[in-house]
Amino acid sequence: MGGWGDWVMGGEIIHFLNTLYKPVLMVNFNDTETAFAHLSNAELREAYWLFNLINKPFLVETGTVLTKWGLNLNLPIEPLIRRTIFKQFCGGESVEDSKQVIAKLAGFDLQTILDYGVEAKTTEAEFDRIATQLIQDIGLAEREDAVPAISSKITALARFALLEKVQQKEGLNEDEQAEWERVKKRVYHICEAAYRSNVAIYFDAEESWIQDTLDSLVIAMMTIFNKEKAIVYNTVQLYRHDRLDFLHASHHDATAKGYILAVKLVRGAYMEKERERATAQGYESPIQENKEATDHDYNQALQYCLDHIENIVFCNATHNEQSCRLLCELMQQKGIPNMHPHIYFAQLYGMGNHISYNLSQKGYNVAKYLVYGKVKDVIPYLIRRAQENTSVTGQMSRELRLLQHEIKRRKLV
Ligand SMILES: Cc1cc2nc3c(=O)[nH]c(=O)nc-3n(C[C@H](O)[C@H](O)[C@H](O)COP(=O)(O)OP(=O)(O)OC[C@H]3O[C@@H](n4cnc5c(N)ncnc54)[C@H](O)[C@@H]3O)c2cc1C
Repeated sequence: MGGWGDWVMGGEIIHFLNTLYKPVLMVNFNDTETAFAHLSNAELREAYWLFNLINKPFLVETGTVLTKWGLNLNLPIEPLIRRTIFKQFCGGESVEDSKQVIAKLAGFDLQTILDYGVEAKTTEAEFDRIATQLIQDIGLAEREDAVPAISSKITALARFALLEKVQQKEGLNEDEQAEWERVKKRVYHICEAAYRSNVAIYFDAEESWIQDTLDSLVIAMMTIFNKEKAIVYNTVQLYRHDRLDFLHASHHDATAKGYILAVKLVRGAYMEKERERATAQGYESPIQENKEATDHDYNQALQYCLDHIENIVFCNATHNEQSCRLLCELMQQKGIPNMHPHIYFAQLYGMGNHISYNLSQKGYNVAKYLVYGKVKDVIPYLIRRAQENTSVTGQMSRELRLLQHEIKRRKLV
């Protein structure tokens, strides 16, 4: 299949693409006609209704509590969740269910990064079952041109407390050492399957108190499997003030050891939790002082990856328009073609459509992170999406404003 791995091909093809390159008009992220062309009028109204609902902090807070409570008591609330927030942000309950969404995205030149949305599991049997599922997903991705990559959290494959203990260098007892060896084997088998199938695997970044463990595990896999192609991707969270240096160090390591650094850039999803823990335990917070500092480092990271594009493959994973616009501008300034095989943009399914659809229309490589899984398993993911789209200031969220704009443009009100 034509996976991202194929695109790390050295000079000739890049040179060929450059000869094809002609500057194109800049992307217009306010073009809601393109952003929502995939939605019928009824679907557009439904999305507007949902974002309007989750824009209200009180409803999200109450809904979160009621959902957890209802699921614990086995109340029949799943059908309601499935028809509303689940439908907006997830592909389906299984890979088979998600195929329709994958095909629809492909119709608009959007690729899919398949993400099995289970989280916070604790038993060895569950970790093994998830590993098997990920290997099956790699098989599907091998057959589907529209799915160049899959994604996973290491905490879906290993016990959180074990990862933390490894990071603290406390010394593992005999059972824990055996458990840790099983984690490494699981991760290795998944990466090996990805390598054999020529499918990329993205590992998420998580909390800082386990991230060193995750980094060393993922970097070890890159060293083995990224010699010729970008198969294994690490994630760098630029809301941490030490991560720009970490990105540079990762790149130096890759250069010294002769593998391709494959990296997803994100701002970071656990800011409050990180700050609270640092305050409670009395250490310096790893998080930047303010949003401007995060944005600064994020944009510096984009620039750094672009400056070393010969042996870095990277994914600009954000819903931030400025960072997307900046990357487009920098690419244009350097004469780098929109479809350069080392550069990807990614947004979550159900969000950031004004970015994804407008970028793909201009020929950039764009993927949607598509989460699938049983409704009860993806609840934490859905709650995060709802909270992210809640307005703390009383203003309309960006998504809601864009949907409203398109509704007016189509004269549906
Ligand atoms: C495809 C995709 C994959 C992702 N994968 C991961 C992952 O593996 N791990 C992960 O942690 N997150 C991941 N995320 C989430 C990401 O980290 C962000 O939380 C989310 O995308 C919002 O940031 P933004 O860049 O889209 O835009 P923005 O809305 O511009 O930025 C919001 C982000 O800025 C930072 N921020 C906000 N206020 C402050 C402040 N006062 N001080 C310092 N920083 C601040 C926070 O990181 C916040 O999430 C992913 C997102 C996408 C789109």
